[in-house]
Parts: sequence; structure tokens; C-alpha cells
Amino acid sequence: MGQNTAIEWAHHTFNAWTGCSKVSPGCEHCYAAEIAHRFQGTIGQWGPGGSRVLASEATWRQPLKWNRWAAEGVCYQCGGKRTVRVSRKDPTMIKCPACEGSGKMEPYRARVFCQSMSDVFEDWVGPVLNSNESRVTVNADGAWKDSGFKPTDASQWWGGDMESAFNWLRMDGIRQRLFRMIDATPHLDWLLLTKRPENIRDMWPEIDENDADLSTLLSSFHDAVNAQIASGLHGTAADQHIEFNQRLSVPYRRNVWLGTSVENQEQARRRIADILECSDLAPVLFLSCEPLLGPVDFIAVLQEILSAAVMKQVICPKPTPLTREQAIKSAKNLLDWFICGGESGREARPMHPDWARSLRDQCQAARVPFFFKQWGEYLPCERSVPGGTLSHTFWSDGRRARSDMQLSTIYQQGGFSMWHAGKKLAGGELDGRVWNEFPTVAEVRT
Ligand code: SF4
Repeated sequence: MGQNTAIEWAHHTFNAWTGCSKVSPGCEHCYAAEIAHRFQGTIGQWGPGGSRVLASEATWRQPLKWNRWAAEGVCYQCGGKRTVRVSRKDPTMIKCPACEGSGKMEPYRARVFCQSMSDVFEDWVGPVLNSNESRVTVNADGAWKDSGFKPTDASQWWGGDMESAFNWLRMDGIRQRLFRMIDATPHLDWLLLTKRPENIRDMWPEIDENDADLSTLLSSFHDAVNAQIASGLHGTAADQHIEFNQRLSVPYRRNVWLGTSVENQEQARRRIADILECSDLAPVLFLSCEPLLGPVDFIAVLQEILSAAVMKQVICPKPTPLTREQAIKSAKNLLDWFICGGESGREARPMHPDWARSLRDQCQAARVPFFFKQWGEYLPCERSVPGGTLSHTFWSDGRRARSDMQLSTIYQQGGFSMWHAGKKLAGGELDGRVWNEFPTVAEVRT
């Protein structure tokens, strides 16, 4: 979408650090892990025995610039320079499609995809290096300093005297700075997508009470209460006090969209319950079903979660679990957005069209916005492509066809084939249309 990211649903991408460990089948062909292996030494080593590499100070300054651009209506694509280059190899300069060449737009909210090369809520206790591959210490005044110490093997990273002799920068310290940045950029919506939603609440920092956003909130609250008191509605004003105090007791961040990845039903069961636990922390909760590796029935998961909650609360001999229709009606109040997409890359796994259709249909039934990002490398065989090869014949439950089976037999039994078309040709249309819905302000829970 923007000059700063190729991700269709965000204007910018920001990585406070890079490096991560794989946690579930969706991580198998992690793009960031592949890049890390290709450029070893520049962005650290991947996995549990590796390191995490801190962003440079120039990178940390970027969101402040994007925040100013959004507030002033400076184009997020060309940064006011009026033109964007199509590619480094192509010298043709084109007018920026976002600002139509003017460099100016109306003030807007910019979406920042945070940590595309790592996981914000990873419980990492190992070493953190800077881009010089040195460990970083924290001074008494809280400033970060290059220690000049470049560890050469894991024994120099934790345990032993070196570890306790210095105040090394830890992941919690970087996360604190990241959230201070989030709080200082109220014109940006930060999309925090994690495969570890169970860690969110424990790692969610308090809000700095001196921040400008909170001051604005406080003054609008006082204005509202004074207006209520002036009009004699004391009861309502008192209610607002109570609600506001409840809001202040949890560090709710109005400019965060909290998401979790769900690639199959097993992860849906684990992670939807965890992300719902965070509904008081941010106005938008979303699910990213990418790469989608199996059918996902999120309505069934909500039905189980809501039924369990009802059964716990109702004090009667025979409490009734929720019906599917009741779960569909409740979904809109619980989840705000779905992203769906297939896998890309050399070893990509195909996405059965019925999995994507089912997600779309559930979202439509529940009136939750649905964003279909891409097919990935494979396209359903109804839409053959020149040069594409027929491959991956399988059923919607994930069973693969044996290589000795006749295609006619497979199709008779409800099997399905995909074309290996390549990501570009496969594109992003589902049943003949683009699905690029977003949660709107009116739909977002407050
Ligand atoms: S959680 Fe994300 S960044 Fe980490 S390994 Fe998995 S896919 Fe890669």
C-alpha cells in the first residue's frame, strides 16, 4: 500500500527488533527466518539459541515522521515529494497515486504493521544485539549504549560473570520503548499481530500519565462531566466518573489494533480465547488467517467460549449452551476484522478455496469486515493460468490425493486441484471480486 511496506493492509511497517522462534505450523516457512538465514550476521540468528537485533536509531525516528505526516496530511507514499519511483531498476518516475501528484492529502490515520520480522509478545530472555552485533547496556539515566562487546558464542550471552556485571538491555526494555512510541504517535494505528496472545496482558506496559493523548482524554472527560452537571444530570455524570475510572485502571490504548494469527482450527481454539481476554486493552481485535492451512470455523469456537462462560455464570440446574445463531449474532461485538490469505514462497502450501470461502461467509453472516489478501502461489483450477502447472490435488479437510489416483476419480469424490501460478498471477480475487474491507470507526468497539 505505502512506500514503506508491500503489505496491502498497512501504510508502513516498523520493526523495533528482528528475530523470533517458530511456534506453530504457520511459522514453518517464515519469511523473516528465511531472510535471516540468507543474511546471517546482519539481522542476527534465528531461533531459540540465536539473538534478537535492535533497530537503528534512524528506524526508531521513522514513526514520529509518519505521525506528523498523517496529522498534517502529507502523503504517506511520496512524503510530499509528489512522485514515487516504480522500482530502483526502472528509472520511470510516476505521480504518486495517493496524493495525485500534489504531495498533500486530508489528514488521515495511518496503519503501521508492527514487527513483521518478529513477534512483539515473544518471551525472549536471550541476548539483544545492535546493528554492529554488539550487546547494548542501559545507563543509570536509562539511555542505551553500545557496549562494544561482540559475543562470539552462546556461552558469552547468558549465565557467567559477564551477564551479571553489566546492566544489559533486555527485551522488556525494548518493548517499553516501543509502547512509549505508540503512546507518542496518536495519529498512527499500530497493528500488533502475534502468535503468542497468551503473553499480551503480562507484557502490556502501563500508560505514561504525562502523555499528550491521555491529557486530551482527561480534558474532554472533564468538559463532558461539567456539561452534565450544568444540565442537572448528576446521575449520568457520576456514571461517567465510574466508567472513566474503570477505563483508567487498565492501560487501554486507542491507537492499537490487536491481532492474532490463526492458520487452522487447532490454533483458532487456542488463540481466539486468548485474544478475547484482551478486549479491554484496544479498540480493535482482529484475526489474521494467513497462511490459511486448513478450515477455520471461528463461529464454532465463539460458540464454545460463550457457552462455557454462560454455563459458569448461570445458577440454575440446567443452563443451556448458546446456539450457532446466537454465536453469529455475538461475533460482531467480539471480533472486528479478519484477514485471509494463502502462502507465498518457494515451498508454499496451497489454500483450498473452500477454506477461504467459509471464512468469508462466516464474516458476512456475522457482519464482520473481511480482507482477502492473496491466493499465494496456488490458484483454484477453475481459473487456469497460462504457464501454470496443475498440482496439489486435495480435499477441503486437508487430505491429499495419492499420485496414482486418476483425476476423474478424485473429482468424483469431491477432490480439488490447484494451479501453481505464482503469487503475482494468482492475485487476490475470491469468486470474481476483491474483498478489502476494514473496520470503520463506527464499527470499532470503544
Ligand atoms: S511468530 Fe511470526 S516472525 Fe516468529 S517465527 Fe512465526 S511467523 Fe516468523
